[in-house]
Amino acid sequence: MGPHENIRTALAAIDLSTIRGRTVLIKPNVGRIALPRSGINVSPEAVAACIDALREAGAARVAVGESPILGVNALEAFESAGVADVARERAVELLDLDRDRPVDLKLRQCAILPRVRLCRAAKSFDVTLSLAVMKTHMHTGVSLSIKNAKGMLYRRQKVAFHQLKGCKDAAEDVRALDVAISDFVAAFRPHIGVIDGWIGIEGLGPSAGAPKKANLAVASLDPVAADAVACRLMGIDPATIAHLRLAAEKGVGVLDLEKIRTVPPDLRPLVRPFTRPPAAPAFAFSDVTIYETGACSACLSTAMLFLQRYKDRLTGCRLEDGKLHLVLGNGAAGVPAGTIVIGNCAAKHRRRGPFAKGCPPVGSAIFKAATGRYPDEPDED
Ligand code: SF4
Repeated sequence: MGPHENIRTALAAIDLSTIRGRTVLIKPNVGRIALPRSGINVSPEAVAACIDALREAGAARVAVGESPILGVNALEAFESAGVADVARERAVELLDLDRDRPVDLKLRQCAILPRVRLCRAAKSFDVTLSLAVMKTHMHTGVSLSIKNAKGMLYRRQKVAFHQLKGCKDAAEDVRALDVAISDFVAAFRPHIGVIDGWIGIEGLGPSAGAPKKANLAVASLDPVAADAVACRLMGIDPATIAHLRLAAEKGVGVLDLEKIRTVPPDLRPLVRPFTRPPAAPAFAFSDVTIYETGACSACLSTAMLFLQRYKDRLTGCRLEDGKLHLVLGNGAAGVPAGTIVIGNCAAKHRRRGPFAKGCPPVGSAIFKAATGRYPDEPDED
């Protein structure tokens, strides 16, 4: 079995008869420029399988659209991921969801946001299918079909979710981001959730973790239930994932595995435990301190990849405690002098240390800001 067969098998187990004659937007997780099989984006075969299944079910029109992380063009991401080839072969439209003016979407059950800016194209289809990769995520525990739906928010609206403050009376594990995601899907719920677990990401997800070949797929007309089952297959209790728990409480779908009928009924032989993300990003590096309040996934992933690639070449940037200090996002405080300042949101700290501007800056630019030279130039003695 490969990713195409896996997804077709999963979709064959659900009733797609209501698709007949309707327009469908596939919103795949293709948020970054990355090669196929890196686990960062969905497999192109998974997109192909969804297109094939929807057409066989009688969809009137199928398109594939994405609003990627800041700094990435959707069409370039589709090319890098191999999804553009699939679309060309099948004569399916590829949509840059950021191209058109957004529409306002009121959040009826809003706890912290009254309205959001939604990509216009996402609203214009009868049905949305959220096609996620099976991943862990440093901010939200996992990134599955509910989290992937956030990629239908327009441009910086996605960042705003990471910069929300305050969540009075919330449980200890709930961030404002979790509340905002659950409010959003309560107002704009994907009709179908599909998870590509051919190759996912574990640990420092969504993009700096390790590829994990799980050879699995999940599909459901209830995206919360799809995510709950995917969590189970990843060896994670879905009730520990705050945005899913809140979405279920708001009636978006069913999280309780006891109430979800699966094919096959016994999932235990299929479980492929994923390494969970560290409680805080800096815990992944014993010699690094990260101040990251209000940072979006783009800057956080950039910082993680920067550290993985270049940390050991930055000896001259360590502070008195022997550690590298990094700040990103707009909400950090108590940043010591000598801290490397990453991204425009953290610009208020620019006088505290080397500043790499950008949204997000690329790793080589952070290296240049910190050391005065690019990574491909020789290190000084
Ligand atoms: S500067 Fe970084 S944290 Fe701020 S919006 Fe850009 S990518 Fe996100």
